[in-house]
Amino acid sequence: MKSSESRLGLWPSLGQAYAGPNLPQCLLLVGQAPQGEPGMTWCRNLLCEGSAEPGCLCRGCQKSLEEHPDLTILSPMPHTIKIDEVRTLLQSLGYHPLWASRRVVWIQEADKLGSDAANLLLKALEEPQAFVYFLLTTEHPDRVLATIRSRCHKVHLANAVTQEIRDDLRPDWMLARPLLPEHIVEAVWYVEQRFRRTHNPNWLVLWERLWQAHQALSANANQDVWRERLRQWWLLS
Ligand SMILES: [Zn+2]
Repeated sequence: MKSSESRLGLWPSLGQAYAGPNLPQCLLLVGQAPQGEPGMTWCRNLLCEGSAEPGCLCRGCQKSLEEHPDLTILSPMPHTIKIDEVRTLLQSLGYHPLWASRRVVWIQEADKLGSDAANLLLKALEEPQAFVYFLLTTEHPDRVLATIRSRCHKVHLANAVTQEIRDDLRPDWMLARPLLPEHIVEAVWYVEQRFRRTHNPNWLVLWERLWQAHQALSANANQDVWRERLRQWWLLS
């Protein structure tokens, strides 16, 4: 797989990567504290047997992730992921998925793979079975074996936004500053929280529009035009 690098906002970027024709078979998510939640979303999307929409009723989405038969999670216990765990994992990867169309392996804190374990894992990443998808998450990509990094499609998550900042996010907050793409990423966080709390589809619409705004502002679109659009969209939500 060709290595590529993305610096994207959180939720829309994962959704886009998931929906795209080039679903990465080895994905490295780089980010701080929020890596758990987008990691879970990624796994859920890959394992869903239905629409992959929030509220999907397929049997995979009804189960907790830990109970899903096609997901294997490796995490350091407590300090390193040992070679024996990777060996056991690799031995199990020949079996076809039971429920979903894919098997998913989530390596949490991939920087804590021991060097033997990392080298063994590398072999699996180089030639994964067609139905196996690897997700690696880390806060410290520089500590992940370089050859593993180069096998993975990398996505940098937006920096963590604290709960207080999310709670403080209001349209005037967003509009009072020079309108930078980073502000849009933070606004997306707020919108995502709102959608999860209310399940009001208006928030999804706003989410999509914020993503348009992010792309336009990243391409140096006129800030005043987009500020006014955002203000109206936000008021409608
Ligand atoms: Zn589902």
